[in-house]
Amino acid sequence: TLGTQWVIDWVRACAAVIAEHRVELITLDRDIGDGDHGENMDRGFSAVVPKLDELADGATPADVLKLVATTLISTVGGASGPLFGTAFLKASVAVGSEPELDSAAVVALLRAARDGIVLRGKAETGDKTMIDAWTPAVDAAAEAEAAGQDAASVLAAAASAAEKGAEATEPLVARKGRASYLGERAIGHRDPGAQSTALLLRAAASVAA
Ligand code: ADP
Ligand code: MG
Ligand code: MG
Repeated sequence: TLGTQWVIDWVRACAAVIAEHRVELITLDRDIGDGDHGENMDRGFSAVVPKLDELADGATPADVLKLVATTLISTVGGASGPLFGTAFLKASVAVGSEPELDSAAVVALLRAARDGIVLRGKAETGDKTMIDAWTPAVDAAAEAEAAGQDAASVLAAAASAAEKGAEATEPLVARKGRASYLGERAIGHRDPGAQSTALLLRAAASVAA
């Protein structure tokens, strides 16, 4: 099972990987958006890291997820701030007060995050958004859990599916977000939010392994 330390490690890994890929995300968003996605995400996760030190002893996974949510909502901005913020908020609610997350709890966390993004942004699969990474990730996680895999393996399955999902946004026309203004000109470009989702989920798997 995975506990509070895993969530804390995940958040730190998110901050590191987003900082590392900041320019890549900016470039993707420059191609089909307004070029700020790397900056937005880096600002948000950089703001979370110092707050981790203020967590009370005995903080639960939900407490950490909620801290991420409120920080992202207040610092990221753009379309992705409220979307990722809602994702972490719903994830926090989904895990309840459990101190340790098993495979089923990890699936519940991911599913709640995805459902929160859909509730807020109304994107469907194939709209060329972050949902195209989240939904295959949730499906792969559920499948791995049903096959009896442990929490770390469930996350690894989710991360691989998210990476494939992000890649699969390349040939699509966007139906949500700024990229939708481009029509066919969005074809051939990867959605930045799907790419950042894949980075966040790979970070989750890496620190669980
Ligand atoms: P902005 O578009 O406001 O500059 P960002 O660049 O930070 O915000 O985020 C853009 C990303 O947000 C897109 O790549 C896409 O994945 C995601 N996105 C935009 N609108 C939606 C939506 N309605 N539902 C899901 N994801 C969305
Ligand atoms: Mg943008
Ligand atoms: Mg913007």
